[in-house]
Amino acid sequence: MTEIQCVHEESVLAAARSGEWSDELCVHAAACPVCSEVALVAGALIGEARAAVADEPLPDPGRIWLAARRQAQRARIERATRPIRIVRWAAAACAVATAAFCLSRFGPGLGRLLDALQPPASAAAPGMVVVQGMVLLIAGGAFVLTSAYALVSAFRSS
Ligand SMILES: [Zn+2]
Repeated sequence: MTEIQCVHEESVLAAARSGEWSDELCVHAAACPVCSEVALVAGALIGEARAAVADEPLPDPGRIWLAARRQAQRARIERATRPIRIVRWAAAACAVATAAFCLSRFGPGLGRLLDALQPPASAAAPGMVVVQGMVLLIAGGAFVLTSAYALVSAFRSS
């Protein structure tokens, strides 16, 4: 709690804030050491405050709130979809590793492997061989499609 040392101190402070000085108050503030100090300090502080507001106006609080909300939402989405991105990258890595393994293992003989899927002319159960070949072809096609999808989605999400 500040102690009032002059009865005109509050009036001097109000005049410094408003900028409206009466003649008597002006004369008193020039003669009274307490009021002259109050006028000097208040004038300096009020001037600094006005300059700070004029130099850099405060941004709209609504925009700050919206930006903070959007940033928090992006962070939540980032956290929630992290496992999905990890699985996509793992699937892409598995697809590449499997394709590399298959090419290294069957690369030169891939054509012969596909020829081996053809049913033999004198098979005991030719329908069964055809079904096995079809299942193998469908599985291989599904593998190629899912691998391509995993690769595309992994690269598109990053
Ligand atoms: Zn005074």
